[in-house]
Amino acid sequence: MDMQMPMMDGEQLAAEIRKYYSVEELPIIVLSSIGTGLMNDADRLFSSYLTKPVAPSRLLNTLVNVIDDQKGGESKNQFSPNQKQASAFNKLRILIADDNELNLMVAGKILEQMGYASDRVYDGNEVIEKLHKQSYDLILMDIEMPGINGTEATKRIHGMFDKNDRPIIIGLSGNVARAEIQSYLDSGMDDFLPKPLNESDLFQKIEDWFEQD
Ligand SMILES: [Mg+2]
Repeated sequence: MDMQMPMMDGEQLAAEIRKYYSVEELPIIVLSSIGTGLMNDADRLFSSYLTKPVAPSRLLNTLVNVIDDQKGGESKNQFSPNQKQASAFNKLRILIADDNELNLMVAGKILEQMGYASDRVYDGNEVIEKLHKQSYDLILMDIEMPGINGTEATKRIHGMFDKNDRPIIIGLSGNVARAEIQSYLDSGMDDFLPKPLNESDLFQKIEDWFEQD
């Protein structure tokens, strides 16, 4: 990971990723032209660092060291407190659709920490394909995707299913203007969650839609 990037720098991005992945689960090697001074406070974010330009032999050494360290920590097994709460209804079949790999990873990881497995696809076309092969209880659907976007996929899903068999569709977008959200719901989405996705919001929505009293 490069340290200097527009919008969100390497340290900010690593801090965001660390909310979902420990150093053992996902090692990050930082690339910097500044040297090691900045590593003091940041060393729990990164597994190692390399100063640019990177010599191939140093890259290889660093990769080997990081992977060795990672193997040492592999057996660690963490349970989040939410996992117990979720156990009563964690049989939900959940599909996540997002064209952004990091968003998919984060959403999948949040669900995993809550005790849910999920399938992941990159666009509306793949959502429709998946639904022809198996059934889902819940779809977390990004609005903006190439090809068939979230609202178009939602309309097609309504055409595919009887009212009672259809999966619940929760739209995901960073665009939270009231009129926009209304247009998502008008396309047939059941609910909406703002991006970036937040664990407690998602947990609450799943409770709202699926908890059986
Ligand atoms: Mg998108």
